[in-house]
Amino acid sequence: MPRYSTLQLVKKAAGENYAVPAINIIDPLSMRAVMRAADNLRSPLIVQTSVKTVHLFGAKTLATAFEDALKDVTVPISLHLDHCPDRAVITEAIRAGWDSVLFDASDREFDTAVSETAEVVKEAHTANVEVETEIENIVGIEDGVGTDSAVHAYSIETLVGAATDCGVDLLAPALGTAHGVYHAQPVLLPQRAAEIISRTDIPIVLHGGTGLSNDEFQAFLDAGVGKINVSTALKHAYMKSALSYLHDVAAIDDKWEPVNLFAAQTAACEEVVKEFTTIFGSIGKA
Ligand SMILES: [Zn+2]
Repeated sequence: MPRYSTLQLVKKAAGENYAVPAINIIDPLSMRAVMRAADNLRSPLIVQTSVKTVHLFGAKTLATAFEDALKDVTVPISLHLDHCPDRAVITEAIRAGWDSVLFDASDREFDTAVSETAEVVKEAHTANVEVETEIENIVGIEDGVGTDSAVHAYSIETLVGAATDCGVDLLAPALGTAHGVYHAQPVLLPQRAAEIISRTDIPIVLHGGTGLSNDEFQAFLDAGVGKINVSTALKHAYMKSALSYLHDVAAIDDKWEPVNLFAAQTAACEEVVKEFTTIFGSIGKA
């Protein structure tokens, strides 16, 4: 099975006015579920792992699970490391065979963020791995990474200049979205996405994809965003399907069969893929 370039998947999507769902999986079960769902829907997909999952399962286990699952699908799917401020984990993912990594330098001051991003790009490109950059804070905490206040925010000129100088492949700017569940109405910035896109060939990534309305997503698709990250929605589906299944089994106190629990979680993960591929317009694009 060939490996796919995250950049090529995103470029094709942005050029054809849809976005590739980039879904944060939780474990090999949810990984296989989202990949099979994408295959059934003929949608390209980006499978994302958090640093937390890499620590939990080990890079080798996740990379092997991805390779195995890839053998059973015929749509293009790449493996991406989400929000990673830790250079050692970036190196681990590059060596283990990830297709792309997000070096999250939003906790660094500008000069350090830029110089370290340039170093990561050099390291990654030597191994044919692509780099998404984030030097502005996308607010919200995701798997222990992030902040609730935007301490690093830059002009479009500065942001695009830094991304270009570093030679990154994908750019995640602050676009008004937040990680996790929205507690207040966000002020979304699709016009900022459009303006960045008009100034650079580097594709733009939208984070914080859980909880926006279809119209809000459409505004970002119209602006030309080609990759949209979804994490919280899958977590909720994964946990709530388990809760519901276990609740039912507990009432009967009879069929304590883990495989049936996994089937319920798999089905819930598949539903999430169906929902977001429909909104992002990626069904039938593979
Ligand atoms: Zn994110």
